[in-house]
Amino acid sequence: MKVLVVEDNIQLGEQICEALESVEWVPEHSQDGIDALYRATSEEWEIIILDLGLPKLDGLTVLKGIRDEGINTPIIILSARDSLSQRIEGLNAGADDYLTKPFEMVELIARVRAQLRRASGNTSTVIKMGDLSLDTRTSKVTWQGVPVNLTALEYKVVAYFMHNPDKVIPRTELVEHIYKQDFDRDSNTVDVFIGRIRKKTSSEVIKTVRGLGYQLNA
Ligand code: CA
Repeated sequence: MKVLVVEDNIQLGEQICEALESVEWVPEHSQDGIDALYRATSEEWEIIILDLGLPKLDGLTVLKGIRDEGINTPIIILSARDSLSQRIEGLNAGADDYLTKPFEMVELIARVRAQLRRASGNTSTVIKMGDLSLDTRTSKVTWQGVPVNLTALEYKVVAYFMHNPDKVIPRTELVEHIYKQDFDRDSNTVDVFIGRIRKKTSSEVIKTVRGLGYQLNA
């Protein structure tokens, strides 16, 4: 699950990225408004965390730019405690939620999860597809009620399928959503992960759509 973290305070941005990585998301850090708007509109993200006070282009302008492009990715804005009018303007411009600084990472993670649940149409923290279930709160997967022991990358693959249940997902897209951008990406590794996930659950759980990619078949 790719998360764009837009925060010009480098230390805070890194803390947010670490917190997201600890729950198996794939954060990328952007430090100014121009870079953020470019990346938000040129790549696919599951969620965007957007600081309002940014160099080069302010966060509200970035937010409006994203929505003007017709992109409806959930956006959580970060703002200073005393900037009520900015928060209201942000919500009116299409932000889905906000947090005031300083905040606890556990609250940020909880709000990110809530937005992802809403975006995928699930109100529970547990997503179920046939015999497969995924608890987004504990990052645990079960198959026919039995816990499946997955590596972090295998979990990321399953989570991405569970959040996109009807979609045929090309390998390249899967790679983008499980690895950090600076990682040496190799789309062949996806086949290995899929193979292991099938072995740990069922050979039918993810089907190969010839020439196009993979699709959840739970
Ligand atoms: Ca700032």
